[in-house]
Amino acid sequence: MSTHNGKVAPDAFPPPVDSQKEFIKRGLDDEDELIEVGVAIVGGGTAGLACANRLLALLGDDPETMERLGEVPVAVVEKAKTCGGHNLSGAVMRPGPLQELFADLTREQWREEGFAFGEVTKEAVYLTPTSKLSVRIPTPPPFKNHGNEVVSVSALARYQQRQAEEAGAYILTETSATQLVVEDGRVVGVRSGDKGRGKDGEPLGNFEPGTDIKARATVLAEGCWGHLTGAAIREFDLARDREPQVWELGVKEVWKVPQPLDRLIHTMGPWPLKISSKYGQIGGTWIYPMKDEKTGDDLVSIGFVVELEYADATTSAHDLLQTFKTHPLVRKILQGGERIAWGAKALPGGGYWSMPKLSMPGALLVGDSGGMVDTMALKGVHHCIKSGMIAAETIYAALKHGSSDLSEYEQAIDDSSVGRELWEVRNARQPLQKGLLIGGALSGLQQISKGKLPGRADWHRNDAKPMFIGNTKDAYVKPDGKYTFDKLSSVFITGNATRDDAPNHIRVQKHVPREIAETWRWMCPAGVYEIPEDAPEHGDVDVIVNYTNCVQCGAITAKGGRLTTPEGGDGPLYQIL
Ligand SMILES: Cc1cc2nc3c(=O)[nH]c(=O)nc-3n(C[C@H](O)[C@H](O)[C@H](O)COP(=O)(O)OP(=O)(O)OC[C@H]3O[C@@H](n4cnc5c(N)ncnc54)[C@H](O)[C@@H]3O)c2cc1C
Ligand code: SF4
Repeated sequence: MSTHNGKVAPDAFPPPVDSQKEFIKRGLDDEDELIEVGVAIVGGGTAGLACANRLLALLGDDPETMERLGEVPVAVVEKAKTCGGHNLSGAVMRPGPLQELFADLTREQWREEGFAFGEVTKEAVYLTPTSKLSVRIPTPPPFKNHGNEVVSVSALARYQQRQAEEAGAYILTETSATQLVVEDGRVVGVRSGDKGRGKDGEPLGNFEPGTDIKARATVLAEGCWGHLTGAAIREFDLARDREPQVWELGVKEVWKVPQPLDRLIHTMGPWPLKISSKYGQIGGTWIYPMKDEKTGDDLVSIGFVVELEYADATTSAHDLLQTFKTHPLVRKILQGGERIAWGAKALPGGGYWSMPKLSMPGALLVGDSGGMVDTMALKGVHHCIKSGMIAAETIYAALKHGSSDLSEYEQAIDDSSVGRELWEVRNARQPLQKGLLIGGALSGLQQISKGKLPGRADWHRNDAKPMFIGNTKDAYVKPDGKYTFDKLSSVFITGNATRDDAPNHIRVQKHVPREIAETWRWMCPAGVYEIPEDAPEHGDVDVIVNYTNCVQCGAITAKGGRLTTPEGGDGPLYQIL
């Protein structure tokens, strides 16, 4: 009987996957078997749709270039049932890039359209030393949100989809892009996934094979380290000389509340996380007011984000959020209200130094696919929009001049607000991997200096952290089904529609030390990983993977597994997250 407690890291059990071999297709099918488009955008989230809208606006003023792109100048491939179905964010947004993208639309109109919920006029930041106490502190610079707008990215994506379709985009929803097509060292399009395969990959009665989508330029807008993005990074060596990417996981709920909340709230812990550096836990919460102009309802967005660098295998963002809701600070906001939505999603946390090279022959990375999130401020939406716009401008300029060179994008991002803002905080987050006390002070110095202190702080890979089975779980509340909820009833309200006989899209080793199995079991917000009751207390155990529950949050990629694309149309159908 062996135990690896505190000694075994997830990267010792890599996922059984060879992304270059499986996810890169060498060469296109014959011309009569493929779909040809001008520009293919993979991912109909905030970034991909910003790219589509900006590109169509530019092409709209230039019919000659538009015509050269053929019948389908811009196609967006989105795996969710509708754009927005898989998108989730806090989400308080810096408004500039969206105002630039839709210059004729006022902020009042954003709210009438149903994706924006009010400007931030008041804010407060608290420490929560215990389950009862909260101490208000002066707002640290990254948490200053005055003038920003609370939005729903799933509703924003639906709005952007409508705009793009009106401008002429062809949006293929319920379609996963499963392979990147590379010919002579250049990305020439993507392949859409087969539909109607059974558990073992066998074609069922409704089988439909995928198709090659040939494009002059391809934009990878897959969000938090996507499937094709990962393959592209390996194929084109895009992460050479960069720091490793690190991730955070957020679980969010939206509540309808009896009283409007008059301010934006952030809490910085330590409760319900452990302060000791042994646990490696860094995280925090948000509570954002949302006024629904259409219904008049007062809503609140509440969420818990935890860095996936932690060492205690029993860390669970979902249970941490449920427990956090029992704090008096939160109870007085939510009590008497009703939970109307739940979801979970990971985000890339490495920032500037972890961003891969953003261009490769024939393709570009935008938004979270390119790691463009400032996790000090928990802000990525505005960078997604801006990077999508810059990608569109780069591609348009190349197409107009008959060029296929997209390499200028890299510098354009660096020179833009995206590059400038991410540069300022490039070294601010890494010290926190050393623990809250020492790390907090070093991080503060970096923030005050606004990036003027020289150097490059390194990141430690999340999956290289040895895991131990600790006692974080002992503090979790027992769900009552009214105010606090378990994972499965939460997944239920996402509208998750994964077929029971679909092929497994989660790649993990299934016979691993208990510490690794427990890590996955507790981490997964959707309760996908199960350890049989009769499994041994110590040593290796078998893991059951209930993949049809998966809400495609992506966290497993940070801790030793891999999320691949399920069949198009599977997964959650978020409305207001
Ligand atoms: C918990 C949490 C809280 C956050 N809070 C804030 C905040 O308050 N403010 C802020 O500014 N930012 C915040 N962020 C960051 C912000 O939400 C993201 O940066 C942003 O939403 C990412 O947008 P995106 O378009 O790059 O990716 P996504 O929104 O993830 O969109 C990617 C899309 O691509 C689709 N897709 C992926 N792969 C494929 C494929 N192979 N084939 C077909 N479709 C595919 C997905 O279904 C999805 O629709 C938060 C993020 C999280 C997770
Ligand atoms: S199985 Fe799905 S929901 Fe669970 S951690 Fe992995 S990606 Fe997230």
